[in-house]
Formats: sequence, structure tokens, C-alpha cells
Amino acid sequence: MMGPQAKSWIAQIAPYVPGKAATDDGRPLVKLSANENPLGTGAAAREAFARGSADLATYPDPTATKMRTAIARVHGLEPDRVIYGTGSDELLHLAASAFAGPGDEVLYVRYGFSVYDIAARRVGATLVVAADRDYGTDVDALLGAVTERTRVVFLANPNNPTGTMTGAADIARLHAGLRPDILLVLDQAYAEYLDADEDDGGLELARTASNVFVTRTFSKIYGLAAERIGWGTASAEIIAILHRIRAPFNVTTAGQEAAIAAVEDQAWVDQSRAHNRRWRDWLTAEIGSMGNHGLRVVPSKANFLLVLFEGRFSAESAFRGLMDAGYATRWLPGQGLPDALRITIGTAEQTQDIARLLRAMVEGA
Ligand SMILES: *Cc1c(COP(=O)(O)O)cnc(C)c1O
Repeated sequence: MMGPQAKSWIAQIAPYVPGKAATDDGRPLVKLSANENPLGTGAAAREAFARGSADLATYPDPTATKMRTAIARVHGLEPDRVIYGTGSDELLHLAASAFAGPGDEVLYVRYGFSVYDIAARRVGATLVVAADRDYGTDVDALLGAVTERTRVVFLANPNNPTGTMTGAADIARLHAGLRPDILLVLDQAYAEYLDADEDDGGLELARTASNVFVTRTFSKIYGLAAERIGWGTASAEIIAILHRIRAPFNVTTAGQEAAIAAVEDQAWVDQSRAHNRRWRDWLTAEIGSMGNHGLRVVPSKANFLLVLFEGRFSAESAFRGLMDAGYATRWLPGQGLPDALRITIGTAEQTQDIARLLRAMVEGA
């Protein structure tokens, strides 16, 4: 007798590949493979987490009211239009589940975030992948790929793994070109790394338009990846729909407390952004100076660089060489980028070490 059979669309899912934290034989690595904050977590958030861990026997607040209120205050939103998830990953899945199913199309750009593929397949929807432009989002290609079956468009901005940014004018043009029955999910996991004048206008669109869902996370600049907290905002109607299918107690008590303290500690965000900008620019220039060896950096607005290896020295060799030296980075053959390595901006020492190691490798090749 055959055992239970997974739905055909589930059986076709390639599992998410997390960033490495150790070598295959178990040696720990410095993790520059998951875009975490190299400075860690702010002191206020760590203290709030400790306080929030005192009572482990009681379920967390299922409405996350204090957390929603704190997030809404900082971003100028209505608390009732803020939803939260076990990471923003949960929210991306909720969006696909609520608005797409078998026979529908979910659209995103080539080299988009790998979770979109899983979220769309999980609900049995058909994936449509629009061409990129220089590794970035091509709004015309996205609009050209819309059909009468399109239900959800996912766009990470800045995008992971490319680090590319779509400006406010292009986001507005994309939104204006989509039918009102298509949900535009703007995944702003790295938005806190942008300067104020680089804002893509997503939160304002989510506030005013009926078909825009913006997601954010506490996993990246806030340094709370271990706690799994994301949030999002959209019209009251969309938020009500998403609440119906989220897990009932999807953010822990300690996580809610930590998130409140974190969002109120914008000094930590500013410090982390400044660190990132400084060392991202530095590493971009360093690797740029290795252009004669075929290395090229895709201009990044996030906390990582996508480095292309177009010469004799391959991305795979760099990945293995950096691992031998104790660093986990992300080599991306599974995402159609076998010639690219994604490297998270680390501490000053780590970033300088990466540049030194890369230079020694390419010059010795
Ligand atoms: C890291 C990341 C996320 C979310 O992570 P969570 O930890 O689930 O909040 C979402 N989108 C993109 C593009 C990311 O890189």
C-alpha cells in the first residue's frame, strides 16, 4: 500500500536553503550568509527580551496590541492596520494563501527572494518569473508578464539576493499599471538600511491604496532574527483577511517585548545603518578594484553585496576559500546565480578580512 501522497505542487517544492553557519564537518563559521546585524541586538531590546521571558507558562498576547501600537507610532500608521507574523516569512505565505490558489498566477522578478517561489507553490499557484534588468527589477517586464490570472505580485525592495533598489517613481508606476484586483506585496526587509530620501513610498501606498501589502522584519537591522518577528500593513480589508489565517499565537511574549523596545530604540537603527553604509561602501570599492580579475559588485542598497565572478577565478572557489578561512557566505547556484556570491557586511574586522582574503585568492589564481 502506498503511504499518504503529498499534493503534486507540494512535492515539487525545493526546500528553502538557509545560510550556512558551519562547515559540512561541523566547524563553526563566521556567518556572513544570512544578512544578520553584525553589531547584534541593541541593549534595550535585549533587556526587554529578558523581562519578557520571565513568565513562560502564559500564552502571549494574541492581538499583540502593545507591539502594534509601538510600530504604528514610529511609522505613522494605524495600529489596527498592522499585522504581525512569525518572521515576515509567515506574512508572505499568508498573502499567497489568501489571494492565490490553483489556476492563479503569482508573479515576481527573476532573482527575487526565494521564499516567493515556495509561498506560491505551496498554495498550488502557477509561478511567473519576469526578466530582470542588470540583476534589478524591470518594472516594464513585470507589467508585461501580468495576465488575467495574475493575483499576487511579490517585490522585495531592496531585493535579496541582488541588493538592487527600485525607486519610488518606478514603484508608483508598477502600482499604477496593476489592476486593482492584483495584490502588490512590497517586501521591505531591508528598508531600514535606506536613507530617508531613498524611501520607495511603499508605506504611503499601503496606507492609501486598496491592494498594497508592505512587509517589514525585526530580523535584519533590529538584530532579532532569533525571535522571528515580522509585521506588515495594508488596507483594513486585507489585514482582516490575513488575520483569519495566521497562527493564533504567532509572536512570543519575549519577542513582542523585544520588538517594542527595538522599534523605540531608533538610535540603534541609526548606528547600524551608519556602520553598514560605511563598510558596504568600503567593500564595494575594494572589490571594485579587483575588476581586472573579473570581480564586479552589483550596486547594493542593503546590508550585503552580490559579487559577480566573471574572470578566471570562480564564485565557487571564492566560496570554498572563504569557508576554509572561517567565513560562511552565500553561493547561489540554486537561484540561477552560479557565478555570484552574496556576502553580508560584517564587523569592520570581518569586512577587512574578507577583502584581504578575496584579494589574495584572485591574485594567486
Ligand atoms: C530576510 C528576509 C525576509 C524575512 O525574514 P524573516 O526573518 O522571516 O522576517 C523577508 N524578505 C527578504 C527579502 C529577506 O531577505
